[in-house]
Amino acid sequence: MSKRGKSTEQIHHAYQPPAGWDAVPVPTYKASTVLFPDTAALHRPRSGDAFAYRYGLQGTPSSLTLAARMATLEQARHCVLVPSGLAAVTLTSLALLKPGDEVLLPDNVYGQNRHVTVRLLARLGIHHRFYDPLDAAAFSALMTEKTRLVWLEAAGSITMEFPDVLGLLHACKARGVTTAMDNTWGAGMAFNAFELAPGLGVDLSMQALTKFASGGADVLMGAVCTQDAGLHRRLDEMIEFLGYGVGANDVELVLRGLPSLPLRYRAQEASTLTLARWMQQQPAVARVLHPALPGSPGHAYWEAVSEAGSGCLFSAVFKPAYSAAEVDAFVDALQCFGIGYSWAGPMSLAVPYDLTHSRSLPLPWTPEEGGTLVRFAIGLEDVEDLRADLAQALARLG
Ligand SMILES: *Cc1c(COP(=O)(O)O)cnc(C)c1O
Repeated sequence: MSKRGKSTEQIHHAYQPPAGWDAVPVPTYKASTVLFPDTAALHRPRSGDAFAYRYGLQGTPSSLTLAARMATLEQARHCVLVPSGLAAVTLTSLALLKPGDEVLLPDNVYGQNRHVTVRLLARLGIHHRFYDPLDAAAFSALMTEKTRLVWLEAAGSITMEFPDVLGLLHACKARGVTTAMDNTWGAGMAFNAFELAPGLGVDLSMQALTKFASGGADVLMGAVCTQDAGLHRRLDEMIEFLGYGVGANDVELVLRGLPSLPLRYRAQEASTLTLARWMQQQPAVARVLHPALPGSPGHAYWEAVSEAGSGCLFSAVFKPAYSAAEVDAFVDALQCFGIGYSWAGPMSLAVPYDLTHSRSLPLPWTPEEGGTLVRFAIGLEDVEDLRADLAQALARLG
């Protein structure tokens, strides 16, 4: 062959990893184009096999390894990856619901799930109702023959109620209704979502890998795991319609985070419990919301799930005597806590919330019992530094 030009030479330069080469991390494969060995392979009909690589959007050996590791973590059989936790929420609802169907959500569901349901699903003719996650009997009465999907969240966002998950699941199983859990808080560590009690688990477990799986506060990704091949196919089909894919660099970051997830989860859980118990004793605080604390809403339901973990979040409801502006000043005075959304990264975070317009059902406390709420996400700092920081900011509050 005559000598090729410099561009052609570079593009067609043979590459083969050396025989026997190995390293600890999974290689980061980057691909839009996936090369076929010959036209016979190109013409072969696409099998249902997830590992039949045809185009980068459908995954690479790196992304499918991450999916397989997530399925292992969650004790599931299948897992799909999407570009964010919110994408995983929307994917699940769109894959399972059609016009005329009804979806039930806990009133303390992740705010963006509520938004998608109320704004997008409603536009598609999909109805919704919100239920009290602590009242399985009232929940049962809400279900109709149109109910096709029930979302669960354990613990619920911001107010941290642990749902009567066994009661809710019994009611869904009795009617054959599909259940999906937003399992970002549990992260595959707090409990096995597919076996919360013998023979009783959810059908789908979705997680924002943005949080614990990555652990770095530097990447967005979501996953949906299931035991059921039929549900997995429906998710896969919807992923193709929506054109969801995950970037190789993001996959690399989450693969790097997973080995330390169990250690990080347990360390952050221990610091969180220490600080939540300490906050309970502070005179400015009316109540602390954390499922492992007796008296926190749903504590008994949390205890009913054997050896449940308890995550890295707690909320403190300040006494109503403190104005929202005073509580904001307390948050501004914190030095070890960033002010910002998300959680399960290295840095602890604090966010004040006004829940007056984001719930349909009454809060678990009256305005006389509690005022402004601050949600704390505990990171990996030394717990004594965090406690000292909370103490100095509380001291300014008076
Ligand atoms: C953060 C979060 C999500 C969404 O994840 P993103 O990757 O930020 O879109 C969904 N559910 C819960 C409970 C979350 O905390």
